[in-house]
Amino acid sequence: MWQVIGQPKIIRLFERGLRAGTLAHAYLLVGPPHVGKGTFAINLAQALNCTGSDPPCGQCPSCRRIAEGKHADVRSIRLSAGEGNGRAQHEISTEDIKEIQYSASLPPYEGRFRVFIIDGAENMSAEASNRILKVLEEPSPSVVWLLLVVEETRLLPTVVSRCQRVELRPAPVPEVAGLLQERYGVEAAKAGLLARLSGGRTGWAVSAASDSRLMEDRARTLETLVSLLGADLNDRLQYAAELARTVEKDRRAGAEVLRTWLGFWRDVLLVKNGCAGDAVNIDCMDTLNKLASSATLTEIKAALDRLNDTLSQIARNVSAQLALEVLLLNMPTHRLPSPSTTEGEAAKVPDRGSSLSERK
Ligand SMILES: [Zn+2]
Repeated sequence: MWQVIGQPKIIRLFERGLRAGTLAHAYLLVGPPHVGKGTFAINLAQALNCTGSDPPCGQCPSCRRIAEGKHADVRSIRLSAGEGNGRAQHEISTEDIKEIQYSASLPPYEGRFRVFIIDGAENMSAEASNRILKVLEEPSPSVVWLLLVVEETRLLPTVVSRCQRVELRPAPVPEVAGLLQERYGVEAAKAGLLARLSGGRTGWAVSAASDSRLMEDRARTLETLVSLLGADLNDRLQYAAELARTVEKDRRAGAEVLRTWLGFWRDVLLVKNGCAGDAVNIDCMDTLNKLASSATLTEIKAALDRLNDTLSQIARNVSAQLALEVLLLNMPTHRLPSPSTTEGEAAKVPDRGSSLSERK
């Protein structure tokens, strides 16, 4: 069965294509980080090589070997986060592509299709992109390319034009909560909190359920934001420099801090407008309520605009330090107690239209 949730239309489209044998030789899977692009790509590789009666069955030797990353015909490349030498990789290099380019010229070794997954294809160097373009221009009937991208505008337009574009949207929050409870045994209140925080990005929710560091990082990020709101200019500038160093080492990690702040300010806006039930950071409602009553609507909107501007500047490689200094120096001043991000507080959340607990 397909492991990816919240994408019924896309699954139907691919099931039809698989039955009729009309799948394209290259797909651009577009969507926000952790929305399920990787899971979908693996499922599709399984479906293409499945020997069971209902592909992707997940049970046949081929499906299992693909899930375990052991199938000779399914290769995945992505940026390394620097596990080996401590330095994060910024580009998918020519060397990375050269090797799979050679494999793509060979017939499948153990399955029906060779499947190449390039996760974060927008990070290919110019030369790597040109190599990919070359293989896409000369498609082989037994090779399928899956390019996974968050920011498709950073890809060569010629690469985009040779792929069929498929957009994965965030899954409905109740479906993510249901998945966490049913498939991963997460208790209801925590599943509800993680599903809301994920914004429908299933991969993030599943990672956060199994790796407590993600929630600890988020708690620290929110504590930092609240302490900066009460901090003087010196402390703000010092933090801007610290975050700029993070961005330089790992742009995604730096952007994640700003996205967490953005989510928090969105909640402040919701609370200010009387829509507290739609907030996602439901484990720190006390802080949200205090900030919403202390900040003006103009301040909240300006904070959201500046965060969005800073995120797009960082994506465009504008000087991170300058962008972050402007952001932090313009942040309004509000002295608040540190947020207590305890999952137990999820129970205190006000009712919302489609309550997570209603789903069974
Ligand atoms: Zn199978």
